[in-house]
Amino acid sequence: MTDVMDIVRNHNSYRAATLNLQVSENVLSQKAREALSSDMASRYSLVIDSDDAYGGTRYSTELLAQVERLACDVYGARYAEVRTIGGHIAASAVLLGLIRKRESIMAVAEKNGGYTGYAQGYLPHMYGFQSYYIPFNGGRQEIDLASFEKVMDEISPKLIVLGQSFFVKPYDLKQIRRIADRFDSLIAYDGSHVMGLIAGKQFQPDVLEYCDVLYGSTHKTFFGPQGGIVLTNDRHIMDSVRKSLIWKTMDNYHISRVAALGVALEEMKKYGKEYAANVVSNTKKLARSMDESGIPVDHAPWYSESHQSLLNSEKLKEMGLSFLEFSKKLEANGMIVDREGRIGSAEVTRMGIRDIERVGPLMAEAMKGGDVKDEVRKIVSELSIQYCE
Ligand SMILES: *Cc1c(COP(=O)(O)O)cnc(C)c1O
Repeated sequence: MTDVMDIVRNHNSYRAATLNLQVSENVLSQKAREALSSDMASRYSLVIDSDDAYGGTRYSTELLAQVERLACDVYGARYAEVRTIGGHIAASAVLLGLIRKRESIMAVAEKNGGYTGYAQGYLPHMYGFQSYYIPFNGGRQEIDLASFEKVMDEISPKLIVLGQSFFVKPYDLKQIRRIADRFDSLIAYDGSHVMGLIAGKQFQPDVLEYCDVLYGSTHKTFFGPQGGIVLTNDRHIMDSVRKSLIWKTMDNYHISRVAALGVALEEMKKYGKEYAANVVSNTKKLARSMDESGIPVDHAPWYSESHQSLLNSEKLKEMGLSFLEFSKKLEANGMIVDREGRIGSAEVTRMGIRDIERVGPLMAEAMKGGDVKDEVRKIVSELSIQYCE
């Protein structure tokens, strides 16, 4: 049998030799990796009523307070919760904390790019509340505000959950807040995909001005370790979220992950604006280069305001390819994309890619069955991690 470490090394060298255009991934700096694999990775901490149930925690106590302060600083929030071990756990804690059984939420439907976890069979089923869809105009990638106001009148949900997994345009939060206030609804923003762009103030910079709580993953456009984060200016909301953590949505938090998150927050504080601006401009350039090379990208001429652009599944099918087949053709040439038709530029931006418009024609060639492995390898060889010391 192969040693496990051989599998790990194989993975590392495979990924180091490929161009990663996956929308949900990013890379950690050397310093963040060091924190993640430190002694903290196997230690316990369980903070109950401000005392830790474990000894040996003097530095983890200091760490937690410092990383919370950094998170507040980077997001301009009064309160931060950094212990949630994933975006989904952050969502669970927020929903559990804010909604009681038989109350309702509204969220963007899966078919419009919303997160599956908010569909009736998942978190709503677990916690016993009802989930309804927010009317959405797919062509414009906008909430249909007139229909939304009508549906709000019927449902008056306790909570509106904004944010999407297929996410190319920020919302008109001022209007959504106005409607929510008419019905006394809270607004949560699941920024999982765009937390790094929000940190760099290049996507929905007004989120905490209009929404009651912001949460999401720390490893998509936010280039930290896998985990979740919750931010709010409202102390009662933070108290409710914190009461939904220990023994409900999780037990111990992962200290080494919080340490690595802290390192990434320091990096984001220093370089976030430049990084996020480059991510957005690279996304547009890459989308245009794909479109001009014959890959069907939606939403021309603006394509996207985020880190991802979206392929058109019908047009791709007419060319004889499913998203899965498209992904496999690219991977055979050293380019990695997901199997859902999303193309991302966050990781390659962090790796300092120059002239990203070179990539569109290579993808198109690979899609048609061509061999562009050498050209891809050359681009990969130019990359090295940026936006860190
Ligand atoms: C990815 C994603 C999640 C889940 O995040 P994890 O960190 O994988 O738990 C939740 N919400 C949205 C909108 C997402 O895109």
